[in-house]
Amino acid sequence: MKKFVFSQKLGWSVSRYSLFETCKRQYYYNYYAKYDPEYPLKKILALKKMTSIPLEVGNIVHDINKTLLERLQITAKAIDKKRFYDYAREKTENYVQARTFQEVYYGKLKSVDTNTVFEKVRHALENLLNSERLNWLSGPAVRKKDEWLIEPPGYGETRINGMKAYCKVDFLFPVNDRLFIMDWKTGRPDDRKHRRQMVGYTAWAAYHYEKDPAAISPIVAYLHPDYKETRITVSSSDLEAFARQIRKETADMQKFCQDIQKNIPKDKKLFTPAKSKLCHYCNFKALCH
Ligand code: SF4
Repeated sequence: MKKFVFSQKLGWSVSRYSLFETCKRQYYYNYYAKYDPEYPLKKILALKKMTSIPLEVGNIVHDINKTLLERLQITAKAIDKKRFYDYAREKTENYVQARTFQEVYYGKLKSVDTNTVFEKVRHALENLLNSERLNWLSGPAVRKKDEWLIEPPGYGETRINGMKAYCKVDFLFPVNDRLFIMDWKTGRPDDRKHRRQMVGYTAWAAYHYEKDPAAISPIVAYLHPDYKETRITVSSSDLEAFARQIRKETADMQKFCQDIQKNIPKDKKLFTPAKSKLCHYCNFKALCH
């Protein structure tokens, strides 16, 4: 991977801009908590760290998929399904115990039932285990297993036409002359958002691997309730349009900075609370009265 000199300037990402579009106040709490004049940093960070049942299902499945792929790199032996699901259950129990859930914090549930979470985790994993894709990964794709990139560490920093951005892939691997990128989803399809995300991953891979986007195949794999894939095609002109969009969106976010180089926000009052139905699912509603 190409390396970058550290800078404090804000970097675009799908999730950052999506939050910025949805609610400026939530965006402020997520990215500028240390500048907040009202609430202690510790309190904001504790709320930020909270999870939710759908989010945690996604986290657990991603981590288990990582282990599954790393195992594929080591052995072609058939998976012992009982051991696999026992491992998944143990992992689910550990995660559920360790995390604070917003459903509990905000009184919607008394506690989170591990069985409820595990049922969804198990279902998603079962769909992947039974998919043609996993068969294919164990066949043609495994030949270049030493070049697999599985949930790489860091934040996926990159440059899109010179602009700082973050695009972190779940799984990237070469087959013959093509690069494949797979993104696991346990939630509902969101065509616009997921396409943007995959165009971002293609830009990331094209930049770091110096590949033509036509030789990159991004695939969104929906694991729940059934296994379904969406294959995305990205052309050079898509990447150019994407770069123009990133420039505009970065400039929109920078308008809320009093110091762009140091990424210091303007006054909190300018980050208006959106007050929409999304407040029900927001970690910070305790701060919004
Ligand atoms: S509770 Fe609503 S208004 Fe407040 S930060 Fe969250 S989404 Fe924004």
